[in-house]
Amino acid sequence: MPLVLYNSLTRRKDPFVPIDGNNVRMYVCGPTVYDLAHIGNARAVVVFDQLYRVLRHTYGADHVRYVRNITDIDDKIIDAARANGEPIEALTARTTALFHADMDALGALRPDVEPRCTGHVPQMIAMIAKLIAGGNAYAAEGHVLFAVASWPRYGRLSRRSRQEMIAGARVEVAPYKRDPGDFVLWKPSTPDQPAWDSPWGRGRPGWHIECSAMSEAHLGETFDIHGGGLDLIFPHHENELAQSESAHGGKKFVNFWMHNGFLSVDSTKMSKSLGNFVTVHDLLEQGVPGEVIRLALLSTHYRDPLNWTDEALDQARRRLFRLYVALNRGKHPVVRDNDLALDPVREALEDDLNTPLALTHLSDLATLVNRSHDLGEIEERDRLQGVLAASGQLFGLLSIEPEIFLKGEQRSDDALIRSRIAARIQARRERRFADADQIRNELVNIGIILEDKPDGTTDWRKA
Ligand code: AMP
Ligand code: ZN
Repeated sequence: MPLVLYNSLTRRKDPFVPIDGNNVRMYVCGPTVYDLAHIGNARAVVVFDQLYRVLRHTYGADHVRYVRNITDIDDKIIDAARANGEPIEALTARTTALFHADMDALGALRPDVEPRCTGHVPQMIAMIAKLIAGGNAYAAEGHVLFAVASWPRYGRLSRRSRQEMIAGARVEVAPYKRDPGDFVLWKPSTPDQPAWDSPWGRGRPGWHIECSAMSEAHLGETFDIHGGGLDLIFPHHENELAQSESAHGGKKFVNFWMHNGFLSVDSTKMSKSLGNFVTVHDLLEQGVPGEVIRLALLSTHYRDPLNWTDEALDQARRRLFRLYVALNRGKHPVVRDNDLALDPVREALEDDLNTPLALTHLSDLATLVNRSHDLGEIEERDRLQGVLAASGQLFGLLSIEPEIFLKGEQRSDDALIRSRIAARIQARRERRFADADQIRNELVNIGIILEDKPDGTTDWRKA
């Protein structure tokens, strides 16, 4: 089955055909490095890592070029460095290293190129000069602004009306703007702010031009896929699109625009500004394995909203535990060969990254492993274990030696079991007996037997 991806530009699933034969080029907006990544940020990284893995599997690892930038010029960075009393370079280097460590733990492959804004200012200045020469931008009072009126297709990606765009961008109404929708390409810096020399005075680039210049530098004027979270469609991606296409004489910028849905807490988008965030770093510190976080993030389809709860994390933990238990049956080394991946798993992923369905296939595979083990069909069990390991690899999961993973989990097992028992008691109290039975069955599946006491409490033992 060919790869099919939902394109935010056409608003439908389209068959994916690379522009350049068998070579795929993808750009994803990376982190602004001033603080630890929260799990909403991690969702964007893991989703596009999942896509990267599927593309590598389909076209070959040498045929995919994945660029994800590091935004290391931004006003939030300036503010955070000042608040910490820390030089900007120290702050960005430190948070970039933390970002790498956290994303490595989630099994996210490093991109092929990771450009930094600070390394691409001359390219940004050149692109701005081109936009001015072409009549798409103008300099005013030390600023350079993109003139939205010069680009009739402005708004095509986000499909917003002019009024909505102006309201959505919360634009500054500045006297030097010809149109309230015009956005900044270059702005002046005060002596205490980072600054580069430019034809418009000492200053720094705006956020949007950074990605237009870096994608051009590393992928060319036209490429296959551009990704990021839903919040980036407007204004960030709309502005990138306008800048790049007008700088390139109207040539198409990107074939597929892809956006992951929000991760939220109590129906509110997780964000640093609201303070309702959980960092990846904290979860890892609490002993949650990176693969559990990854599985929790992939259990929901990437375009759907994902409500982050302890229960969702527990569920992912139990699911992964079960996969590793199956992989450990017979306690022998499992053959790991990527080509063995199960067709339905691959096909589900090729259908616009249907990770929930693919994960169901993975769980079914574990059931089959267990069955053949119990029936003493050793050869079949070994074959299925190879398929399970390869299918897991497509997900960036099951990369740890099963015995080592299971030992690590055993230590936190008791806490996990106690929290499930509490959830079951609560379910019974609320007369949700089907839920209570389901929890009992889940525990039986991992070898835990429950004994209900007359006083309403529950004891447990290992089978
Ligand atoms: P930032 O560092 O805020 O620029 O965000 C980096 C990436 O994380 C972008 O692709 C954002 O769209 C994405 N992102 C931020 N918050 C969330 C969230 N709550 N859910 C999903 N993606 C998010
Ligand atoms: Zn960007």
